Amino acid sequence: MIVILKQNAPKQKVDDLLEQLKSQGVGIHFSEGTHTTLFGLVGDVSKIDQEALEALDVVETVKRVSEPYKLVNRKFHPADTAVKAGDGVIGDGMFGVIAGPCSVETPEQIISVAKRMKTAGAKFLRGGAFKPRTSPYAFRGLKAEGIELLLEAKKETGLPIVTELTSLRYLDLFNEVDVIQVGARNMQNFEMLSELGHCDKPILLKRGLSSTMEELLMSAEYIVSGGNPNVILCERGIRTFETATRNTLDISAIPLLKQKSHLPVIVDPSHASGIASLVPILAKTAVVAGADGLMVEVHPNPPAALCDGAQSITPDIFDNVMENVRTLCKLEGKTL
Ligand code: PEP
Ligand code: MN
Repeated sequence: MIVILKQNAPKQKVDDLLEQLKSQGVGIHFSEGTHTTLFGLVGDVSKIDQEALEALDVVETVKRVSEPYKLVNRKFHPADTAVKAGDGVIGDGMFGVIAGPCSVETPEQIISVAKRMKTAGAKFLRGGAFKPRTSPYAFRGLKAEGIELLLEAKKETGLPIVTELTSLRYLDLFNEVDVIQVGARNMQNFEMLSELGHCDKPILLKRGLSSTMEELLMSAEYIVSGGNPNVILCERGIRTFETATRNTLDISAIPLLKQKSHLPVIVDPSHASGIASLVPILAKTAVVAGADGLMVEVHPNPPAALCDGAQSITPDIFDNVMENVRTLCKLEGKTL
């Protein structure tokens, strides 16, 4: 971290600042030029508050030269992380597909989809039991009953289940859930992230609607620093000025997150586009961009879906998606 001082900053105040920083355990390299005086902070600067420094009247500006996330940073952990749940693995050369309806609706719906997903080659079953909805009047999920139905589908197919936790007060209901999803709207629910750092289940962390890559990685850092290394990052589209699609799929985020972090990165083309006809092509694009997996919404009868029907593909289309993904994974040297 580099701190640039204001011209004519009073010496006494600068000395006080240096003493205060030294007492926080960081090393200091001081450099006095003709026009600019600055110092570099070295060592563990993770606890130094950049904004508080910038607010001081002797400080002109502060620049970070290294990333604020450490545990999820590839610099300190070069090898890819693979996250496992049941027979499903995502990362380190293993391409994992999570598929299923936006929300669990009936026993027939979830079990029929689960069987088709398994046959098609998905390694995880998804389904929302607790649904975060923009409108309080919309279907908000079957809640505890939805989790029971997912567990039945797991019994039938053996597929590990992935479902979203919308509030920590439901955590006790997630004991048998294989992967806990933190949705876009909760990506910066820091209390939730800290608590999930203490649990032994993999966490699927979706990028917030308007979150930067660094914010996503800092949220992952919350979970990993709590003691849970099993985090999967999910690019699910970000909010931009474009309204033709529900969100804008940030393709660059896939290779860039993989350069910056060792954590696996998957793509959700369903929420990224909001348009079922775009899902197959975006799924293919994700594989070529280097993703470690996909999360796809599949419904047996999309027009009748209680949530996100417009972006849900049918099991038949999903079969096609899987065929294409299989071909591309071979080219990319990934195991599906
Ligand atoms: C979901 O996966 O069902 C969901 C609500 O996604 P997101 O949090 O990305 O909007
Ligand atoms: Mn959805």
